Amino acid sequence: RLVPAGLFAGLAAAAAVLLLARQQLSLVSSLRVGLRRNQFFIAYQPMIDLRSGHCVGVEALLRWRDGAGELVPPEIFIPVAESSGLIGKLTERVIDLVCEDAGLFLASHPGFHVAINLSPADLRSTAIVGMLDRMIARSGALPSNVIVEITERGFVDKEKAREVIAALHARGIEVAIDDFGTGYSSLSYLESLDLDFLKIDRSFIESIGTGAPISQVVSHIIGMAHNLELRMIAEGVENHEQAAFLRVRGVGYAQGWLFSHPASFEHAANLHRAALESRARCLPQPTHAG
Ligand code: C2E
Ligand code: MG
Ligand code: MG
Ligand code: MG
Repeated sequence: RLVPAGLFAGLAAAAAVLLLARQQLSLVSSLRVGLRRNQFFIAYQPMIDLRSGHCVGVEALLRWRDGAGELVPPEIFIPVAESSGLIGKLTERVIDLVCEDAGLFLASHPGFHVAINLSPADLRSTAIVGMLDRMIARSGALPSNVIVEITERGFVDKEKAREVIAALHARGIEVAIDDFGTGYSSLSYLESLDLDFLKIDRSFIESIGTGAPISQVVSHIIGMAHNLELRMIAEGVENHEQAAFLRVRGVGYAQGWLFSHPASFEHAANLHRAALESRARCLPQPTHAG
């Protein structure tokens, strides 16, 4: 016994921390390269009106195909961008890409929504409002086309959050609280923020129809959102049972693989056009695409 076991464990832990730090550093430099070489693009997931079955908008989901041609999941690179201070640049890129992909369509479809995910760091200043202003001015989109999605973490600095929300509302841009139920927001906290949409996290939708007690939590969230007069968007709807459960309880909108995976903007635009045409014939048909 030349080396005590405790020392081994300590060394192993230190090595693991170093390895993680190195991976993090190399990810940060790859992200910078990615920005320079335009390796980012957006996948658009249709948002469905549960009553009509029509596609009424999209959520913009950032995608990164790195130098090796691999798709890196946002769950990996967004936290790294957040901790390294690169997130502002990424958000700006998202807004530019949405403008390119969707600007023309939005300008002629005032009732169509595009939801953009913001990080908590984006709310630390009102620069984000200027970025959205420029996007709207450049594309001819209406402020009413735009929804920003902010997770509960984004509302920790309440005063700042209120300031940004007020600036967005002054322009007619709406605000959604994303992944609701995964954080610690209380009812009174929600009430004190002037929000427009509540997105029910996928983990709650998953439990619908399984008989698990957690599915009762969904009913509570829905009741609460109704009381606060928040419109609701359910995330991750994968089957008809979940869609029916939500529709019956007055949840207005849903996204999920049942309707469509994230895809090109054109795909969602075509779903929306098809819906407009069927409405013109007064024959609303639920469209369950993809
Ligand atoms: P999110 O905003 O809650 O987005 C929903 C995630 O659920 C997306 O994952 C989407 O592809 C996935 N999803 C949609 N429908 C289904 C379904 O029916 N079943 C299952 N299993 N999954 C479904 P994605 O695209 O990997 O994004 C993950 C997270 O990364 C997002 O969660 C969001 O928090 C973050 N993110 C994505 N794009 C951006 C961005 O542009 N900016 C920021 N700050 N965060 C982003
Ligand atoms: Mg989102
Ligand atoms: Mg979400
Ligand atoms: Mg989620």
